[in-house]
Amino acid sequence: MRRLIQSVSTAFLFAACSPNYLTISPPSSAPIVHKSETEALPDLRKLVREAKVEEAWVYLPEREEWHDIGLETTITDHSASLNLDLEKIEQLATDYSILHFYHIHPEPLDARVVPSADDIGSAIYFFCKYQHQRKKDFHYLLASSHGIMEYVLNGERFSDFCRFTKEEDFFERGKTLGRIVVNSRELWTNESRISSLAKKKVSTTIFNNGSVEIIFTPYPKFMDGLQ
Ligand SMILES: [Zn+2]
Repeated sequence: MRRLIQSVSTAFLFAACSPNYLTISPPSSAPIVHKSETEALPDLRKLVREAKVEEAWVYLPEREEWHDIGLETTITDHSASLNLDLEKIEQLATDYSILHFYHIHPEPLDARVVPSADDIGSAIYFFCKYQHQRKKDFHYLLASSHGIMEYVLNGERFSDFCRFTKEEDFFERGKTLGRIVVNSRELWTNESRISSLAKKKVSTTIFNNGSVEIIFTPYPKFMDGLQ
């Protein structure tokens, strides 16, 4: 699945009376959900099993809040693209220092269980803009069949990339690096073993090229780590 970053002109934070669980919400109308990561994990798993579109959130550990950052999903023959609300992310990154980016690859979409080139491109964009330039603490996590994939960028390796790349090119050039990861034999091989890796109930690095590391943690083990 692919995600595109798209700037938008309007963004609303809309905290209304609403059920306290994570849902697929239309742009701009999503409520803030007040839950810890542990409490929200069952919601994420349910959406992975049932949702028909991708969705994305920023989780704020300092406040135990989930903010919906997914805008409209564009479906084409081969992929779905989820646009992200960059204005809302800018606001959250201004107000808070620790952001956990979560998104789902739902099973009904038949998505890969590993991050896409767009996902890695997005992470590189956010890394350069907020972690490199503003020293924020961001984490990038994908919920899919069997567990959580965390993709970790090596800050030292990306330092020069961030310094010498224009901001408007962070995403496209990051996506090019993401394609190398996504098409690697190492990732394809380990992806085909995810269900057997999940049974082992341990975290496993399923890809590492020194710049990007992808770590798979089965849901029960991930839950243990949060407690
Ligand atoms: Zn994705």
